[in-house]
Amino acid sequence: MYDTPDIADRHDAVCVVGAGASGLAAIKNLREQGFAVDCYERETSVGGGWNWRHDRSPVYASTHLISSRPMTEFPDFPMPDTWPDYPHHSQVLSYLERYSAHFGLGEHIWFGTEVVSAVLVGDGRWDVTTRSTGGGASRVQRYAAIVVANGHNWAPAPLRVEGDFRGEVIHAAAFKDPAQLRNRKVLVVGGGNTGCDIAVEAAQQATTVWHSTRRGYWYAPKYLFGRPADQVNAGLLRWRLPLRLRQFLYRRTLALTTGDLTRYGLPVPDHRPYEAHPVVNSQLPYYLGHGLIKAVPDVARFDGASVELADGSRIEPDLIITATGYLPRFEFLDPGLLDSDPDGRPDLHLHAFARKHPTLAVVGLLQPDAGLLPLAHWQSVAVARWLRLRVSDPARAAAVQQKESARTLRSWSRRQVVPTRRHWFEVDYLAYLRTVESLLREMEPAR
Ligand SMILES: Cc1cc2nc3c(=O)[nH]c(=O)nc-3n(C[C@H](O)[C@H](O)[C@H](O)COP(=O)(O)OP(=O)(O)OC[C@H]3O[C@@H](n4cnc5c(N)ncnc54)[C@H](O)[C@@H]3O)c2cc1C
Repeated sequence: MYDTPDIADRHDAVCVVGAGASGLAAIKNLREQGFAVDCYERETSVGGGWNWRHDRSPVYASTHLISSRPMTEFPDFPMPDTWPDYPHHSQVLSYLERYSAHFGLGEHIWFGTEVVSAVLVGDGRWDVTTRSTGGGASRVQRYAAIVVANGHNWAPAPLRVEGDFRGEVIHAAAFKDPAQLRNRKVLVVGGGNTGCDIAVEAAQQATTVWHSTRRGYWYAPKYLFGRPADQVNAGLLRWRLPLRLRQFLYRRTLALTTGDLTRYGLPVPDHRPYEAHPVVNSQLPYYLGHGLIKAVPDVARFDGASVELADGSRIEPDLIITATGYLPRFEFLDPGLLDSDPDGRPDLHLHAFARKHPTLAVVGLLQPDAGLLPLAHWQSVAVARWLRLRVSDPARAAAVQQKESARTLRSWSRRQVVPTRRHWFEVDYLAYLRTVESLLREMEPAR
């Protein structure tokens, strides 16, 4: 009925966009549910952001995991026990390459091929237009469903400041190598994990380092009581300690370890612990304490060679690195399909399922307080089972959809976070996994 001569019909096959960690998990789990899968990847190899040769990769030479190894690995494919607690980015890439090889995912991926548009056709299927990144004609193929795993850490969010600056300004995405910092006067803007990492790197390379943050944060060390801090936190969550008690313990623990950072000029946090994405950095307090990083307030405006700060003071860096985060981008989809607001923030059930389009899902659009990969795994298991249920038992699928639509946002999103773009996709990893688990149970075959 919807056949046209230019469109190759892939019948029940599912299209996956992107072969980073999330796309690989999606291919594997869709295959396990018996789907034919065509994955399109604009780069020429797997790994997404963890492959620092990819032109859009956000990682820099010294990037190590912020979440610890056991909290980051896929549940069905452990990282080697001999690896460190916080592997280097090259190890994460090697891990993803091994995952792809182990599950035979490569044969389902079309490398060097970009998805340029995905259009919903009348029967809930998708016309996906792809184009080789090396040039050439585009192709249109029709799929039963589309799973988007295009990542949300590659389109730099710009720093908007009045005035002009005469020196060099780059986004953190363009920071790759410590040599870029050597003997420079560097201003790092942004108090997230990337901003702190780069400030620490600059402290070892640059002649002067200013670190500008808009608000105070709770800077957690990478280790607590000899264990990676996220594993200690996971223990507290498993015991189901009330939030207020966890906040109290967090404050006490930081007071005893990191200490009071306001004496280095950092602002007092304007939120309670757990109300912002965790910033984990053991070295920042060390370099602040050695005077090698100077904490400064928000940037007010640029003025030629100077930068005016919110307290009226002026500094004269020659390099500004804006660690101002990334924006989600879905250029190949009409924003209405994801119920995106004018700022580009999609509104998806569980940050994954399009509310009005049961054959459209996004995997990996999350910012958890632990590693992303386990969540991307379980999200893609849920997506694959959902797509299978729609085919095998449409009546049950409709019942599940109705029940799910009544699930409140509070049941799976981070309950209270500072309302900034940084927290659009923030989730408590354990609460989120429990919710996905209950969805999976609902979709289990009837006994
Ligand atoms: C500095 C930094 C540190 C981080 N540290 C951690 C950490 O410690 N732990 C952790 O769990 N996470 C961390 N992350 C998050 C990290 O993004 C995830 O671990 C993971 O890489 C996300 O995988 P993804 O597949 O969702 O996205 P990506 O890795 O971005 O992969 C998306 C893929 O889709 C492809 N693609 C995009 N658009 C198209 C298109 N139109 N057509 C075809 N292909 C397309 C891209 O080429 C890319 O290969 C960190 C991120 C950054 C920036």
